Amino acid sequence: MNTRLAHLECTKCKTTYARDSRWNLCPAAGCAGSLFARYHLTALDRDAVAGRPRSIWRWSELMPIEDPANVVSLGEGGTPLLRAERLGARAGFTDLWFKDESGNPTGSFKARGLSAAVSKAKELGVKAIALPTAGNAGGAAAAYAAKAGIACHVFMPRDTPRVFPIECERYGASVTLVDGLIDDCGRIVAARAKEAGWHDVSTLKEPYRVEGKKTMGYELAEDLGWELPDVIVYPTGGGTGLIGMWKAFDEMEALGWIGRARPRMIAVQAEGCAPIPKAFAEGKAVSERVANAHTYASGLRVPKAYADYLILRDVRASGGTAIAVSDDEMRAASDAIGATEGLFVAPEGGACWAAAKKLADAGWFERNARIVLFNTGTGFKYV
Ligand SMILES: *Cc1c(COP(=O)(O)O)cnc(C)c1O
Ligand SMILES: [Zn+2]
Repeated sequence: MNTRLAHLECTKCKTTYARDSRWNLCPAAGCAGSLFARYHLTALDRDAVAGRPRSIWRWSELMPIEDPANVVSLGEGGTPLLRAERLGARAGFTDLWFKDESGNPTGSFKARGLSAAVSKAKELGVKAIALPTAGNAGGAAAAYAAKAGIACHVFMPRDTPRVFPIECERYGASVTLVDGLIDDCGRIVAARAKEAGWHDVSTLKEPYRVEGKKTMGYELAEDLGWELPDVIVYPTGGGTGLIGMWKAFDEMEALGWIGRARPRMIAVQAEGCAPIPKAFAEGKAVSERVANAHTYASGLRVPKAYADYLILRDVRASGGTAIAVSDDEMRAASDAIGATEGLFVAPEGGACWAAAKKLADAGWFERNARIVLFNTGTGFKYV
């Protein structure tokens, strides 16, 4: 294929690794940093790329797959950027938008990341993948693994809403319910993967899910005429999309597609599980694990993101902030979005509107700023 993939690079120690092997975390002694795919970023015409069919795979030069026959696609990406005029008017916002990810295969933007990761796993000859999940990542992994003919082992907290394990089982995955949270599941996956030879596709412990999610950054730029918005409000669990978009912005600047201006990135979490706002407020470079993490927004139920250092670094570099909202605020916000914009959003989408209002009330940004809220999934899984 036409990929410009050069090598992998550790986000902590900057060691580089060959592109044609299976990698998880940086193997340098004592490092264990997340690895990023790095590309040859020269002479690529944005208009030629943007003329291709809408999918994460239109950006093929900037995706890590060598042979197009290895792409495992269910039609992910190319989601709409919708002007939210009626919702915005409720709070005096004049330039409010939704990036609506709910129409992705399996009902959430996890499809982007897992399409990329499963495609690369297929390319590298992987026979079985495994991952921990708070819900949506499991369904997406199971669906793409089914399509690829790869076995899939999903580990999720026992109290995850029933729809999530059922969905995984329908795609033929094996599901293990764990008494604990997603990071407890992650430890089990790491140990079992080693014994069983499974490929661990935990987010940011594997280099390619972030490559799938970064495409949201390219799409935003394209849809706004190659100008980024002033503010991006992002419901943050593992942080993959936020980190991915920030990476995409750097890649587009290196390619000459956009200038130096960047949006302020706002990481939204739930009051019952808010390690990033806490670490941000305390000026810390990493977060502390939250005990008894609880929120009905299962995508935000991540007591300690593995790549918390990247989330905090990018939010600070953007001049952004991190904020928590309550489950009640998410519910009310989701209803307001439905009744004004016709979108049946996941609670994580509601969280973004609740956060935007709070920040505007606090004078954190002007109400005429161009603000993009992320609705990361469908509301149908939460009824
Ligand atoms: C996983 C998930 C999130 C969090 O995404 P990250 O990129 O891992 O921070 C938000 N919303 C929904 C619906 C999710 O499934
Ligand atoms: Zn390293």
